Amino acid sequence: MELTLTEFVGLALGGSLALVLFTALLSRFFHARGQRQALARRVICRLCLHAFENSSHGSTVECPACRATTHRGRRSSLG
Ligand SMILES: [Zn+2]
Repeated sequence: MELTLTEFVGLALGGSLALVLFTALLSRFFHARGQRQALARRVICRLCLHAFENSSHGSTVECPACRATTHRGRRSSLG
């Protein structure tokens, strides 16, 4: 199979475009995942509203400011 110059340039352009798109998607995916993990580590104390990060896997964490035990998890319990 013979490639003409036009076909070669087209393939090279298409290939690099696909590579750039793939890299951008990958970077975006990892960035979003990192943010989600940082958000999952973030805990806000229910007593003093001190925000801190905790990477332990327990369901409760101790607030470093007031030593109150706070449940980690989604902050959907308003009211
Ligand atoms: Zn606290």
